[in-house]
Amino acid sequence: MADDCLFCKIQAGEIPSDKVYSDEEIYAFRDVNPAAPTHILLIPRKHIARISDAGVEDEGLLGRMVLRANALAAQEGLHDGFRYVWNCGPKAGQTVAHIHLHLLGGRQMTWPPG
Ligand code: 5GP
Ligand code: ZN
Repeated sequence: MADDCLFCKIQAGEIPSDKVYSDEEIYAFRDVNPAAPTHILLIPRKHIARISDAGVEDEGLLGRMVLRANALAAQEGLHDGFRYVWNCGPKAGQTVAHIHLHLLGGRQMTWPPG
């Protein structure tokens, strides 16, 4: 756990969140400022600041995060499609320095993203 990391505090239960899934290595909760009818953030309990900082030791964790996100998308009824987003660094708009996989769905998505 990193000092002063918002998502470390959320996964530890020190800051409240609208939990949708939790296990020993993954925590998922609803985004406080949703950009779509379904907007879930999946985070590892392990503090990794940027997706580009992930190492070979995180390979399994990242795979399990995607499979968990697939299960949550199905649970949310997003059978017509959804989008995953990893923002990495300031130019991509990453505002919280603890990796989070955005699961967005429930509306028509557009391309290219903003
Ligand atoms: P980023 O822009 O870093 O990819 O995404 C950060 C996301 O975290 C944003 O969509 C923002 O709305 C969400 N967020 C920031 N602070 C909180 C919080 O305290 N609680 C929850 N549930 N979401 C947050
Ligand atoms: Zn953290």
